[in-house]
Amino acid sequence: MRTRHVGAATLAALTALTLAACGGGDVGGGDGGDGGDSSDGGGDSIKIGIKFDQPGLGYQDGSEYTGFDVDVATYVADKLGYSEDQIEWVEAPSANRETMLQTGQVDMIFATYSITDERKEQVAFAGPYFVAGQDLLVAEDNSDITGPETLEGKNLCSVTGSTSAQRIKDEYAEGVQLVERPGYAECVTALTAGQVDAVTTDDIILAGLAGQDANKGKVKVVGNPFSEERYGVGLPQDNEVCEDVNSAIQEMIDDGSWEEFVMSNTEGTGYEPNADQNPPTPDACA
Ligand code: GLU
Repeated sequence: MRTRHVGAATLAALTALTLAACGGGDVGGGDGGDGGDSSDGGGDSIKIGIKFDQPGLGYQDGSEYTGFDVDVATYVADKLGYSEDQIEWVEAPSANRETMLQTGQVDMIFATYSITDERKEQVAFAGPYFVAGQDLLVAEDNSDITGPETLEGKNLCSVTGSTSAQRIKDEYAEGVQLVERPGYAECVTALTAGQVDAVTTDDIILAGLAGQDANKGKVKVVGNPFSEERYGVGLPQDNEVCEDVNSAIQEMIDDGSWEEFVMSNTEGTGYEPNADQNPPTPDACA
């Protein structure tokens, strides 16, 4: 009974959120603009932003969406009263995430999205639900790049709008040539083509890309993380769901689902989450 009650309350909150977002600016998506319901098929739906090109995290495989972020999002959406077929998956590239939340193109984002004070000026976060660390991906036979201090004179690829690119500019800019791409898969292509010496972003993202058949035996993760990336659920600043999302995350951790999602999505990559930092406890909502 209690669950149903919470679900209904949350549904109302989310409907309000969708309406508010619609009023703020009509930007594509499935909503008609007038009325509150989504126009695509009757019941309410929820638009969730994920990555489409990060295997093991957020990945589009034909009409299927897979990965840890997809599993976490599906679990949380279910607790909020949305079944899997009510979820509309929307690609949320690193550089577009804040804008997509501000304009109502998505209701929530689960996309390896680090909680930072700078981003909190534009959006809100529930979570964290995972903690990763920035690392480096290099060619399998590379032995001179062992950490961020060994990048002098090297060409490095990262993604526009990410904390990964920003940290290189802020802390390691001297002597490093940074190339920015819209996604990490493009960076890995540049690496295997010999156009850059390394790719940098979160270790779990790099592990997923390195584990792809096309890249196996060609690249390796250095394994020397140099930041703490706390993955949050991106929400519009003005939202009423943060507490419910946090409760869902806590339940996911407590009932063993979190562990199952981590294991099944990192299987075969050799990746292990930092056990001192995982699973994390969600922050209080602002
Ligand atoms: N977690 C980092 C960020 O939020 C890097 C991964 C990404 O670009 O999604 O910027």
